[in-house]
Amino acid sequence: MLTPLIELRDIRKSYGGGDAPQVDVLRGIDLSIHAGEFVAIVGASGSGKSTLMNILGCLDRPTVGQYLFAGENVAQLDTDELAWLRREAFGFVFQGYHLIPSGSAQENVEMPAIYAGTPAAERHARAAALLTRLGLAGRTGNRPHQLSGGQQQRVSIARALMNGGHIILADEPTGALDSHSGAEVMTLLDELASQGHVVILITHDREVAARAKRIIEIRDGLIISDTPNTHDQPAAEPKPKALQAVDLRQRLADGAEHNGAWKAELLDAVQAAWRVMWINRFRTALTLLGIIIGVASVVVMLAVGEGSKRQVMAQMGAFGSNILYVSGSAPNPRTPPGIITMNDVAAMAALPQVKRIMPVNGAEAGVRFGNVDHMAYVGGNDTNFPAIFNWPVVEGSYFTEADERAAATVAVIGKRVRDKLFKDLPSPIGQYILIENVPFQVIGVLAEKGASSGDKDSDDRIAIPYSAASIRLFGSYNPEYVVIAAADARKVHEAEKAIEQLLLRLHNGKRDFELTNNAAMIQAEARTQNTLSLMLGSIAAISLLVGGIGVMNIMLMTVRERTREIGIRMATGARQRDILRQFLTEAVMLTVVGGVAGIGLALLVGGALILSSVAVAFSLPAALGAFACALVTGVIFGFMPARKAARLDPVTALTSE
Ligand code: ADP
Ligand code: MG
Repeated sequence: MLTPLIELRDIRKSYGGGDAPQVDVLRGIDLSIHAGEFVAIVGASGSGKSTLMNILGCLDRPTVGQYLFAGENVAQLDTDELAWLRREAFGFVFQGYHLIPSGSAQENVEMPAIYAGTPAAERHARAAALLTRLGLAGRTGNRPHQLSGGQQQRVSIARALMNGGHIILADEPTGALDSHSGAEVMTLLDELASQGHVVILITHDREVAARAKRIIEIRDGLIISDTPNTHDQPAAEPKPKALQAVDLRQRLADGAEHNGAWKAELLDAVQAAWRVMWINRFRTALTLLGIIIGVASVVVMLAVGEGSKRQVMAQMGAFGSNILYVSGSAPNPRTPPGIITMNDVAAMAALPQVKRIMPVNGAEAGVRFGNVDHMAYVGGNDTNFPAIFNWPVVEGSYFTEADERAAATVAVIGKRVRDKLFKDLPSPIGQYILIENVPFQVIGVLAEKGASSGDKDSDDRIAIPYSAASIRLFGSYNPEYVVIAAADARKVHEAEKAIEQLLLRLHNGKRDFELTNNAAMIQAEARTQNTLSLMLGSIAAISLLVGGIGVMNIMLMTVRERTREIGIRMATGARQRDILRQFLTEAVMLTVVGGVAGIGLALLVGGALILSSVAVAFSLPAALGAFACALVTGVIFGFMPARKAARLDPVTALTSE
């Protein structure tokens, strides 16, 4: 005797128990079905037919009893192996068609082959051929709601046949159809049975059941009759072809091979995700706002932070990072500040670490031209000025060594002074201005620095010969401060040390001077700016987090709405990890779309800021970082809903509302 393809031994199924009253739906079913049989299971509504079918199709497990498939105990198979069995052995046809609403007829039919790892070209061709064979050649692109009931049922039969459909499990396939469509579907099942498929037809309708070769009647969870339906031919003549088509040993080999199918599955998942997002685009867009704003604000805030940092650094660096300042200061509040003498200057100039040195003898002074009065910083300095401050003259020229020796009353004015005093004049060169009532001739205009600190504007400055400042304005030969350019910008600290030791020696060990340098000031400023950027960035990161919660919310909603779809996918052979991958892909897609939109928005906002002359410095790492954060958020917040979906029980998912 041949091993039956399907053998049930004392199968029982009860629901409830515990708090709820226990309902025994199946109460001891013994049944054998051989390859090539066409069996009808009839019974009144509520007799347990669908429950039996779910057990036969490995969508559900019996409470008690043994199910042997080709002689092997199904209870011993794990969830992946059960998925394999559903995919390779069974084809389901349901009363309610159970097509995935967002997919076209073609995509619905192809789905089982995707999980089986069939190459795309073969899959497309086979699905198209099946649809053509079932009379739907012109409907392959239609979505289920664009098809009639009969057409939908034919699509679902095509889907059942996609992977071979050796055993067709049809639960009331005509139940929702008009008599004409119903007859068509029955003719199809008849045909399949005669081609060697096992057809298990479940119905409450005796007339429909009469098409089968064997009729099993079930009442209240028990088989009450099992009769061959013989008009003219012998009963259940075994057709070994169908049996050999499902070889359980194959599942292990397939499991390994199946790993190559991830590309097709991923593509399918991306397409499915895209469709769902597109169908719910308004809702998706609203949810994605969180991610979009999060990513955009991270990128923009970091860009603004970096921009303002660079601006400040550039302004400070405009004077050169190798610049040191020396001025007199009081060692303690009760003593008068020390004095840097021209002897000190000469000594410092001799140090090898010093490239240039320039004493400055200056103060705020009243300046007048015609009837315009203005206050500006007037500094007596030597001819090192343009070189040491990297500050060129744009009109006229700088004063010379000869002017210095002669204590000439010539002035080189800053941009701001020029704007204040000579607003209406095409050129100030050659004009006389009064500095503290001493006439000076303007011989040059300095380039605009644009640097300012506090209320002091570096362009509000007049440079005159040191000698002229000492003799004619301030009556002192000692410098107010000394500007030193270190020989090596990278060794400013060493220069500082050397100067400090020299001055201590010259001042008999008294620290009555002060040394500052531009680099230290720039560094301090950079640190404050970095803190600012960090703060802005973390505020933005919080909005990303909120965006992630939005993604989780929409994913939980999606899983709830598409529980039936998950059931359908499982019935056609999706494993838990396929479902997990599907929903994770959707979450990632969501955040990728959100991330891209966020970066787009950031560029728009950044562009607008640049137009309104805010310093903005976009950085690729910041954009990539924000994008990666969004992605990680999507994965983290999408994982929980995806796992929830993957862990659903096939029957529960399939029968959910
Ligand atoms: P049929 O398909 O023959 O109409 P079913 O197999 O669907 O019958 O259901 C048989 C019985 O099992 C019904 O009385 C039904 O109420 C019960 N039943 C089915 N599924 C569940 C369930 N998940 N929980 C509790 N009772 C159930
Ligand atoms: Mg039923």
